Amino acid sequence: MALLGVDIGGTKIAVAVANDQGELLDQDRFMVATTSSPEQALDRVAEMARDLSARQQNPLRHIGIGSPGPFHNGTLDRPANLPGWHGVDLARSLSRRLDCPATLQNDATAAAIGEWMFGRGQHTKHLAYITVSTGVGAGFVLNGRPYGGPHGNAAEIGHIVLDPKGPQCNCGLTGCLESMASGTAMGRVGNQRRQESAYLSKPRAATTIRAEDVIAGWQEGDPVCTQIVDDVARHLGHGLAILVNLVNPERIVLGGGVMHAGEPLLEKIRHWTAIYSMPTLFRETELILSGLGGDTGLVGAVAVAMVGRQE
Ligand SMILES: [Zn+2]
Repeated sequence: MALLGVDIGGTKIAVAVANDQGELLDQDRFMVATTSSPEQALDRVAEMARDLSARQQNPLRHIGIGSPGPFHNGTLDRPANLPGWHGVDLARSLSRRLDCPATLQNDATAAAIGEWMFGRGQHTKHLAYITVSTGVGAGFVLNGRPYGGPHGNAAEIGHIVLDPKGPQCNCGLTGCLESMASGTAMGRVGNQRRQESAYLSKPRAATTIRAEDVIAGWQEGDPVCTQIVDDVARHLGHGLAILVNLVNPERIVLGGGVMHAGEPLLEKIRHWTAIYSMPTLFRETELILSGLGGDTGLVGAVAVAMVGRQE
C-alpha cells in the first residue's frame, strides 16, 4: 500500500507517492496559476495521484496534506497565500476524489512532523521547526504528537509583535518578527540601505536586492550587509528565546531559504537566543539546521499521512 503526500503552496502544488516507510517513490507538481479554481486544482491533484500510484502499481492507503492556513473546523479560513480558496475543506475534497482517508496539517506543522520522523528532529519528544523564508513560521511536535491547537493554527511565531513601532507586517500589525527577520524583510532593508553599501550598490543584473544578495554581501565582509544580517539574527534570537522560555523544546530545527546561509548565521541566532532566554532552559534546547533541503514540504506531507494512518 502507498501513502500520498500533497504539499500545497501559494505558487505550486507538489504530489508524491511514498511507501509504508515514508520513502518518496515518485513525485509530480504543477503551478497553481495554471488552474482556474480550487476545484480544478484539486481535480489535478487527484489525477496526478492516480497516475503516480498506478505507476507504482500500489493502491493509496492514506493521504497527508500540508497547506498554508489559517483553518477553521478543517476548512481554509481566508488564506492570504491562496486567494479564492476560502471555505475549501482540503481533506474532505481529496478523500472524496481518491476514495481514501486524508489528514490535513498546516504547512509548518507538516514540516515539523517531517523533521521529526525523517530529518534532524528524530529521537526527540518535544520539537519545534522554524522556517525563515518569505515569511517566518513554526510547527510543533510536543509529547511525541503534532500540536496545532484546536484548529491547526498554533505556533504563529512570525506574528509575535517584538516592536510595536516596527515595520508594517502583511498581517496588518506592525513590528512582527516576520516583518523584521524574514527573507522579505532582509531584502527590503537591503534595498533601503543600498547606497550605503559598497557591495549592494555595485551594478548588477537584478534591480531589486533580495535576501540572497544581502547574505552574499555579508559573506564578502560588507559592513552594511553584516549589520543587516546581525539585526535579523538578533530578532530571530529574540523570537526563539520566547519559544525556549514558553515551550522549552529539546530541539529547534531551522530551515527555509534564509537558513541556507548555514552554520555562521545559526551561530549568530544562537548567540542572541542565549542572551534573551533563561539560561537553564536555553541549555536544554539544541538549535540545529534542517537536513531535508528542498523536499521539506513533500516529506512533511508524507509524514502527515504516516501519523494520520496510525490515528
Ligand atoms: Zn504579522
